[in-house]
Amino acid sequence: MKRILFFIAGALLGLCVAFVSDWVALYRQIIQLNTSILLTISSLVVIFLISVLLIKYKQLSQLNKKTFQVDNSLREVTKKFETLFEQSTIGLAMLNLDGTLVRVNQTFCELLGYNASEMLSMNYYFMVHANDVNHLQIHLKNLIDKKNDVYQSEQECIHKNGQVVWVMATLSLIRDLNDEPHHLILQLQNISLQKKAEERLHHMAYHDPLTGLANRNKLEQFINHILASSRRHQQCFALLFLDLDRFKNINDTIGHEAGDMLLQIVAERLRSAVRNTDMVARLGGDEFVVLITDVKKTESVGLIAQKILDSVLEVIIIKGQEIYSTTSIGISLYPYDGQTIQTLMKNADLALYRAKEHGRNNYQFYTIEMTAKAQDKLALQNALAHALVKNEFLLHYQPIMEIATRKIIGVEALLRWSNKEYGMVTPDEIIALAEETGLIILVSEWVLKTACQQLKNWHEMGFSSLKMAINCSARIFKQATFVDDILKVINQTGLSPASLELEITESIIMKDPENTLRVLYALKDLGVKIVIDDFGTGYWSLSNLRRLSVDKIKIDRTFVKQATLDETSAAITTAIIAMVNKLHIIPVAEGVETREQYEFLKREGCLEMQGYYLSQPLAQEAITKFLRHPMPDGETILETEKTI
Ligand code: C2E
Ligand code: CA
Ligand code: CA
Repeated sequence: MKRILFFIAGALLGLCVAFVSDWVALYRQIIQLNTSILLTISSLVVIFLISVLLIKYKQLSQLNKKTFQVDNSLREVTKKFETLFEQSTIGLAMLNLDGTLVRVNQTFCELLGYNASEMLSMNYYFMVHANDVNHLQIHLKNLIDKKNDVYQSEQECIHKNGQVVWVMATLSLIRDLNDEPHHLILQLQNISLQKKAEERLHHMAYHDPLTGLANRNKLEQFINHILASSRRHQQCFALLFLDLDRFKNINDTIGHEAGDMLLQIVAERLRSAVRNTDMVARLGGDEFVVLITDVKKTESVGLIAQKILDSVLEVIIIKGQEIYSTTSIGISLYPYDGQTIQTLMKNADLALYRAKEHGRNNYQFYTIEMTAKAQDKLALQNALAHALVKNEFLLHYQPIMEIATRKIIGVEALLRWSNKEYGMVTPDEIIALAEETGLIILVSEWVLKTACQQLKNWHEMGFSSLKMAINCSARIFKQATFVDDILKVINQTGLSPASLELEITESIIMKDPENTLRVLYALKDLGVKIVIDDFGTGYWSLSNLRRLSVDKIKIDRTFVKQATLDETSAAITTAIIAMVNKLHIIPVAEGVETREQYEFLKREGCLEMQGYYLSQPLAQEAITKFLRHPMPDGETILETEKTI
């Protein structure tokens, strides 16, 4: 092999020597030919070589220039990137895959409260709230596994000062040239303000603005949650429905602003009467709900209810004024009184109703009988709703006598409901029901029209100065058309307004004094007479009697009854009659049942009377007969203004 190589090298050397010697020979020949031509050729070769060199040089310098430009723009881009990174209002950071921070910008530092050098020795995971770390790790794995390109989520980070900072974190993965995960880019945007606004909105949707307590939405949400957990753990819980007693009266007396303060104080007392795990909510107005969780013994609920009653009862001072408020509580227990939120709330409400019936300031547990009672009530309400169209209402009339002249000067219209199932129902049973359902408006209209028409008939029959007393309910005073309705009836029947006596109780006035007085003044302007009914059972101020120039006062029958039984009652009744007379108002005694009572009233100066002693309330035909031939029980004390 070596020999072959030596042979080839020797051959090549031989060829080169031959070639060079050829050239030298040729050169000699040329020199011999012409020196000037040689010179020319040489210079041409030199020129050629120089121009080749020049071209190469130019090419090289152009390349250099380009490299320089690329370098420059690279530097420029880097600079721009640096500026962008540093001055971005978004927190930017570069992380290793294990979360250690490699590079951070200013905003990132400011957001979390550390300086750049502190940051670079830290791991981002330590700055994320424990709740969010798991989530973050799962999504990082998804990025690595190429399940996601980018991960974005709201996170709670912990600031250096320990406070929570809400951020919108965007994490993206950078891979190397071999497509292997290399590092992470993290962007953080501070969304704490936005979160706060969201929280405020959320709070508003679930809380009562006046007291800060939970509202109905939140309560329902909580009950649903407690229902589920109580079912799971077989626990018991209690629902307490509270309603402040006579809050409307207090509100009207002390003003709405003070009323609001009262509600706030009560809310605070309720909150401090129960544990943190229980809930206090305000449903609106003066209605509160307390939910007691994990009830071990029913008696303990009774103790809590009593504690609440006691704490509400403590004097409340608003603007230097002492206010005493009480509350009534109805209680339903899960699982005994209902399995659903609706049943539990309904039953607690029924129990509350019972507590109110029991004289307020007490608590009542729901019982099955309450449902039975409520069902009966519902059936009665249903029947009552149809009474008007079925023509089941009628009026009975009770005569009123002027004591001095012993003349029947008027009658009082008293409502009756004649129903196949319930028999003859008295107004005490139905007025409250009708008020609850709103039916009272239609019923009152019917009473007004029927009574006025009847009075007109009696006037036409010759009892021309007979007056008609009509009882008014609280609800119709809220009816904007009430005064107009009365005027319409007066015009239609042609009755003199003075022949109408509208009876109202003190409690009606106290429910809404401002509005009631306004309506009463308008009625007085029409010329209608105003009578205060059941006088002595309410607490209306005497000065109002004068201001309103009331026409008559009906002394409640409890005074009349007691007047002949004990001296103190007699003294009170005497004093009332004297005072009413002094105010130039006509005193009327109602519920007079005996001759003894009649004699007493006559002696003390009572001007008018009505009662069983004279006559029971009678149906229209019977009372017409009575007006023609007045016949009091066993006595002849009457004279009617008979013209026929
Ligand atoms: P009230 O206005 O005080 O009517 C007198 C009530 O006492 C009547 O009861 C009457 O039957 C009864 N009464 C009359 N004399 C005597 C007596 O000597 N002894 C006893 N113990 N009672 C006597 P009634 O008819 O059951 O009416 C009860 C209440 O219902 C009335 O009390 C009145 O407040 C209300 N009411 C009656 N009719 C109407 C009406 O049309 N509209 C409204 N809103 N309420 C009415
Ligand atoms: Ca009356
Ligand atoms: Ca009365």
